Amino acid sequence: MTASHTTAPTARTLFAADALLPTGWARNVLLSWDENGRLTEVLTDVDSQSGEAGEAEGAIRAAGPVIPGMPNLHSHAFQRAFGGLTEFRGQAQDSFWSWRKLMYGFANRMTPEALEAIATWLYLEMLEAGYTSVCEFHYVHHDLGGKPYADDATLSLALLRAAQKTGIAMTLLPVLYQTSGFGGKPPREDQARFIRSTDSMLSLLQRLAPATHAQNAVLGLAPHSLRAVPPDSLQAAVAGLHAMLPQAPVHIHIAEQTQEVDDCLAWSGQRPVQWLMSHAPVDARWCLIHATHMTPEEYASAAKSGAVAGICPSTEANLGDGIFDMPLWLQHGGRWGVGSDSHATVNAAEELLMLEYSQRLNLRQRNVLGGGMQPQVATAMTLQAVAGGAQASGRVTPGAGPAGLAVGLQADFVVLDAEHVALAGLPADSAHAGHVFASHRTSAIADVWVNGRQRVSRGRHNSHETAKHAFIQARSRLLRSA
Ligand SMILES: [Zn+2]
Repeated sequence: MTASHTTAPTARTLFAADALLPTGWARNVLLSWDENGRLTEVLTDVDSQSGEAGEAEGAIRAAGPVIPGMPNLHSHAFQRAFGGLTEFRGQAQDSFWSWRKLMYGFANRMTPEALEAIATWLYLEMLEAGYTSVCEFHYVHHDLGGKPYADDATLSLALLRAAQKTGIAMTLLPVLYQTSGFGGKPPREDQARFIRSTDSMLSLLQRLAPATHAQNAVLGLAPHSLRAVPPDSLQAAVAGLHAMLPQAPVHIHIAEQTQEVDDCLAWSGQRPVQWLMSHAPVDARWCLIHATHMTPEEYASAAKSGAVAGICPSTEANLGDGIFDMPLWLQHGGRWGVGSDSHATVNAAEELLMLEYSQRLNLRQRNVLGGGMQPQVATAMTLQAVAGGAQASGRVTPGAGPAGLAVGLQADFVVLDAEHVALAGLPADSAHAGHVFASHRTSAIADVWVNGRQRVSRGRHNSHETAKHAFIQARSRLLRSA
């Protein structure tokens, strides 16, 4: 299939017979945006013909139901390169920790050129799979010998270029990584490329602020985890970030593994989320990545903080992490979004499917995450994940209004393929459910728009072939260097 852009680049209105707005499905919707890609009007029940109203005249006509673009709130781009290479049994009981050993082997061979090629392909895959923005949790900072590059921002800039080339909106989260375990345990030799002081992190953020601003990217910070960042560094880094950028997002891996919980208890007498809630100024700017292992009290306090739970269903399944208790989180009004993390799967719909299915298997019930105003599971999950993802990405001000297809926000949307066999002939909400639950891992996506610009047309990004070949070459080189 070849890419074709049939729409005029200057067209700034789109008519959709069906569109998923923050309040639910609406008919005959007209979206208009300005030259900066911000939605200026979201009209419903417009006259789709010309005539007295004639509002839809001249607008692009969507080829199927329109849904808001999904923010991907957790990505380690380089990990895309070893998909398929870690799915064999290497010892009596394989675990996250044996996977991490293999992952470090790859991280420690990554060059700036390889990272840019891998990230470019990955971000393109994300766009084709319904993600319109990505939070890059970026922790390989230094050269192959573990020393800072001449330009300390070399690898960060490679990621920003990859995002710019594909058109995905980026939230760049440089990672602070200082220790190999609780209690200030010195870093291991194979962590040398990740390690930096708090001062050097704050300098890196200063260096990156103009570059991110120039491409409408958001800059934040990711203290890697409580095992990798001692309390005083956590406090100083977050304070330094917010002195510079008051609304900047803060993401942290937390309570992903039971061993991490046990080690935190041994160190502090508290569990990771419990410790964080009582020692850090966690609020709506924060995103708790995984938060898999929490007590009912931790679910309550974390939800109350306003922080977003960053759930990565396919990676958590791939790594055998455990199951996040969604009903309990929602009962406390918790916000959440999804991330593709290690990229074992890059498909926004499939993350929703995995998340709902984990709850069904756990509870032996169906349609766990539908209900209230939105009995359709796919609709309910999409609206919640778009809102939580936008908050975690620093793309909306928490509590300031809706996320998704609303005036003042970026025109980020996905046009579903009404001709796809899983969708054809179904009403919009069922077609959307078909996209999430019954498209058999094929894409039911026709077009993807980011910030008012079309990036995917008929399922393909126009750099698909060149980016794919560059990715395959970069991976082959990395494998040869093993
Ligand atoms: Zn992660």
